[in-house]
Parts: sequence; C-alpha cells; structure tokens
Amino acid sequence: MSRNCISFVSAPASGKGTAIKNMEELMKGFDIKTIAIGGYIRTLKKEDKIPQDHREISKEELNKFIFERVSQDINEYYEALGERDSILVLDSFPLYPSQFAMYEDILKEFNLNELGCVTLEVDKDVLVERQKGRLICSSCDNIYNTAIESKMPPEEGICECGAELEKRKDDKDLEVMIGRIESYYKKDKVIMDYFEGKKKLLRIDGNDDEMFIAKEIVSYVNKNI
Ligand SMILES: [Zn+2]
Repeated sequence: MSRNCISFVSAPASGKGTAIKNMEELMKGFDIKTIAIGGYIRTLKKEDKIPQDHREISKEELNKFIFERVSQDINEYYEALGERDSILVLDSFPLYPSQFAMYEDILKEFNLNELGCVTLEVDKDVLVERQKGRLICSSCDNIYNTAIESKMPPEEGICECGAELEKRKDDKDLEVMIGRIESYYKKDKVIMDYFEGKKKLLRIDGNDDEMFIAKEIVSYVNKNI
C-alpha cells in the first residue's frame, strides 16, 4: 500500500482544477482524494467553531481548528479506503508560511510519502484575460473559457448540454479578480522557495496543452512514488 501526498499551488485560473481532474483520469490505479483546505474556514464558521470574522482569533489558533477538522476528514478517508494505493491532493495548500507547520504535521500524522508541489506558471496578464473569459454552465457546471482556444463553448454563450453559460459569481467584478491574482503573486515566491528547498517542486508551463500538462504531472508522480 502506498499513501502519497501532493500539493497543487497556482494562481487563480491557472488551470489547476483541470490539471487535477486530468491527473485523476490518467492514474486510475490510485484512489485520488482532493482536499481544499481553504474551504475549511467557511465550514468552521458555519459550524460556529470559529468567529464569523476569523481575524478575531490568532493565526495559530485558527490553524489549530483547521488542522483538527482536516485530520478528522483525512482519517475517515483512510479508514474507508483500506489498503488501496492513494494520492492525497492538497488543493492550494500550503498557501502561507503560517501553514507550513500544518502541512508537515499532515505528512507526519498520516505517514505520507511527500511528492511535493505542482505549480502551473502563467503570465499575470494572460491570467487576467482567462479570468475574463471564464464561463460556467447554469445547468451542468461545465466550465468554458473564451480566452482559451480549446475551451471555447461550442456555440457563443451556450453549453454543449444546451443550457446558458454564465460568468462565475466570484469573477463578476474584474477588480476582485485582478486583486486575487495580484495577491497570489505577492506570496507565491515564498511557497515555491519552500518546496524548491526540499527539491520537491514541479514547475510546469501553464500555457501548454492540458493533456501535455497532465502527462508531465503523471510522469513526475510515478518517478517519486
Ligand atoms: Zn451544460
């Protein structure tokens, strides 16, 4: 049985979600579980475990709550999984230096083989265009992008299922989108340095074809498993 862990850390709209999905497609021999730790703050707020404004508690305290909850989920996952080979995908984690310790704790606690971090490198301006072009189906959740040739909808504004396409809600305000991208590029270097220091960083040109990207990831994973 092999239990592996890989992080995907990239800018918004860099194609991370697609890369994870394609990796899953190509690695059927492994059970692949994606954990998006960013979403846990929302969950904890809903459960009233942390204040609605999470800045009211210290970063350390917040991380403690997140770690507890994440560990519980990972534990349940491995219990249900049994002896199957697996890859735990940490989506956008670690994203801050304050999360490095939690990341190391997860590796240790579950005795995981650390594959490291995959990052898709895309120019900031290209990302802004992609953000603008992002469309989602109102019915089947299919995602399209008018700024990427291979992701164009079959018909303008219409999904292949026939339903209408919409801008993603959080992408409606261009200023918010640019803000998200810029804020990512302010913190990415320290994350990349961290994994580079461990010699566990896979940099991929995010402009490459999505299947080419997926194959690069799979070959990296296979080499390190
Ligand atoms: Zn659709």
